[in-house]
Amino acid sequence: MNDLARLRARLDGDLVTPDHPEYDTVRRPADPLYQDARPALVIRCRSETDVALGIEHARRTGTTVVPRGGGHCFAGRSSTSGIVLDLAALDGIAVSGSCAVIGAGARLAEVYTALHAHGRTIPAGCGATVGIAGLALGGGIGLLGRVHGLTADRLTGARVVLADGRTVDCDAEREPDLFWALRGAGGGQFGVVVSLTFDTVPEPVATRFELRWRRPPVADLLAAWQDWAPDLPDAVTADLTAGEEAVLFGASLLGEAPTRELLQGFCDSIGVMPETDVRGGMAYHRLKRSFEALDSAPSEGILRSRSMFFAQAARPDTIKALAADLAAAPRRRCHLTAMGGAYNRVPEAATAFAHRGERFLLQLAASAGDPWLDRTWEAAYAESSQRVYPNFPDPQLREWESAYHGPNLARLQAVKRAYDPDRCFDFPQSV
Ligand SMILES: Cc1cc2nc3c(=O)[nH]c(=O)nc-3n(C[C@H](O)[C@H](O)[C@H](O)COP(=O)(O)OP(=O)(O)OC[C@H]3O[C@@H](n4cnc5c(N)ncnc54)[C@H](O)[C@@H]3O)c2cc1C
Repeated sequence: MNDLARLRARLDGDLVTPDHPEYDTVRRPADPLYQDARPALVIRCRSETDVALGIEHARRTGTTVVPRGGGHCFAGRSSTSGIVLDLAALDGIAVSGSCAVIGAGARLAEVYTALHAHGRTIPAGCGATVGIAGLALGGGIGLLGRVHGLTADRLTGARVVLADGRTVDCDAEREPDLFWALRGAGGGQFGVVVSLTFDTVPEPVATRFELRWRRPPVADLLAAWQDWAPDLPDAVTADLTAGEEAVLFGASLLGEAPTRELLQGFCDSIGVMPETDVRGGMAYHRLKRSFEALDSAPSEGILRSRSMFFAQAARPDTIKALAADLAAAPRRRCHLTAMGGAYNRVPEAATAFAHRGERFLLQLAASAGDPWLDRTWEAAYAESSQRVYPNFPDPQLREWESAYHGPNLARLQAVKRAYDPDRCFDFPQSV
């Protein structure tokens, strides 16, 4: 029996090689930028033993190995020419009281639905098919974050298969350095997480709002938003997407009438009234689902994006540069995400996520070949905090160590040396 046949015989899941009829489906990650990925092997893991066997096979044969959750990594890090550990089948969700144990293959839509059945939720992102593991390991920013912090801030433990094949449980007491590193440095660096334990929060009833300017005064909107949204009460998250149209959208826990009042104040300051859709009394999982279309990438063509944090408002010239050619091509977008609130009440060194003093996150997106993206990013980055969200990895980023990890870099490097001394889990820009 050859190596591969021996591996196949020991797996609970199955092994997909290029001659397998489903290879063409399973080889691809979700992100269309990386549709050409052709791994030598995809292991559809059904147990943590499968994960350990995959790692062991990779090490023995000198092959690269990467875990894949939702497959959305902007830098294609859940693809390789070596071995992909596809964790999609490890998607069990068990809830007991406020504690939820979630398999690393679960996607956000499944997580919200399962937690809703228990009247619970977690602060997390919007993309329905985004993987809970990829999201939480890099931080996790979402519409409840200004109240409850990052997804990673609600993580109380994780079960991890390490490079040496051991499986460990980590939390504040057991393997505390590993647990620290898993909260916000970005996935795929310290081991393969097979399940995550969260301290959930009660599912709120919220007010949903979506305000749309068909012909937006973009520079005025960006300028007004950056002075307004990050200073709103924590109970309100109002994010802005601008392109040919502009949409201000989000969730408020304040009730409908006070939310309408806040939004009216913002619109008055712009002077151009949007189409307004404000709905109170919405269960949070429904509110999340209602934003799926807004949050998902367009189905046609390939998009690229780059981002940065701002700790202070951008200067008027920078705003003008951002707005200047935004509407000149159809797929150019500028997304602004409000930070502050509970995100910034956690000390920078308490978890691996180093971005605790930021006001907002700016993300630019455009067609893959559009030079506007890099030109506009360069101009804005010079004035930003020069920090980048680890869940929005940017292969072109210079000085990425400080941008992703700030002062937490040295401790992360020490954890990497301790848990993965031979760099079994490796990619450009890994710690
Ligand atoms: C449509 C869309 C909407 C989004 N919305 C938000 C949002 O609202 N808020 C937000 O914060 N982010 C958001 N993101 C970004 C998202 O958080 C990242 O893309 C995230 O890394 C995706 O995780 P994944 O599991 O889907 O991707 P994958 O590509 O599978 O994984 C991402 C990285 O984590 C590693 N990894 C995956 N699983 C494991 C594991 N079990 N153990 C160890 N490492 C692992 C991978 O190897 C890879 O390096 C969005 C992305 C998209 C495409």
